[in-house]
Amino acid sequence: MKVVVAEDTGFCYGVKRAIDIVTERLKEKGKVYSLGPLIHNQIVIRKLEKEGLRIVDNPSQIRGDLIIRSHGLHPVLIEEVKKRNLRIIDATCPFVKMVQRRVKYLITNGYEVIIVGDPNHPEVRTLAGFARDEAIIVNNSLKFKVQSLKLGTKKVGVVSQTTINKKDYQKTVAQLYKKIEPEEFLIFDTVCQITEKRQKEVSILSRKVDAFLVLGGKESSNTRTLYEICRKRGPAFLVEASSQVKKEWFIGVKTVGILSGTSTPDWVIKEAIDTLGKMK
Ligand code: SF4
Repeated sequence: MKVVVAEDTGFCYGVKRAIDIVTERLKEKGKVYSLGPLIHNQIVIRKLEKEGLRIVDNPSQIRGDLIIRSHGLHPVLIEEVKKRNLRIIDATCPFVKMVQRRVKYLITNGYEVIIVGDPNHPEVRTLAGFARDEAIIVNNSLKFKVQSLKLGTKKVGVVSQTTINKKDYQKTVAQLYKKIEPEEFLIFDTVCQITEKRQKEVSILSRKVDAFLVLGGKESSNTRTLYEICRKRGPAFLVEASSQVKKEWFIGVKTVGILSGTSTPDWVIKEAIDTLGKMK
């Protein structure tokens, strides 16, 4: 079976930066805390835990330096940690930080803030925090509940979770405008360019391959978005490691395309290329 690998795979710069920062700190301190998983990839997390990373749910469990993960941390939690005089190492992705600044700008300038994304995702909850938890969150499936939106609201500002499907975001924004008809409608293009590039690569790959293998964590939003886009183009499978690949998925497949989420290490991709390359 022939294997075609997408042009852009492996860690994005935001994830790489967070891992580099934590690795350096672990060498120095031996132990660093993260509120929630540092990134959404269990393989990488397990490795970092062996090196001393401690993942906790609550600030009261922190006994040393805290690293802010790439998705950022809710401002209320940051304040809580500061009150306990703990050291904070900020590994928030610079692009996510920029979206946080946009949200802050909107709320302080009197806009009703709408965040398009998964209301349960830490990045979205944190963004809402930067809007003093007054933002309206709508999901990107076009089935959002718009009852809570005030018709005739004068100033509305919209941002998205950084890893959602760009096309769906555009559709959602158009629907929101129709529904609210605000006097002022400020939309920020906050889908991360790296995830957008990977989403676009699906259509390029789909001309060359009969099936897709997406590598990444199941909780990773950008990986799931990529997988959903692939599924619309042909048979697609999502795994975290090549050991989960099943031979029967690729019966009759001549060429398979490999893509990865932004928190998938290069060695996982290499292993998958080897595994698929050996299949007949
Ligand atoms: S996917 Fe984009 S926004 Fe998310 S961590 Fe990577 S570079 Fe930052």
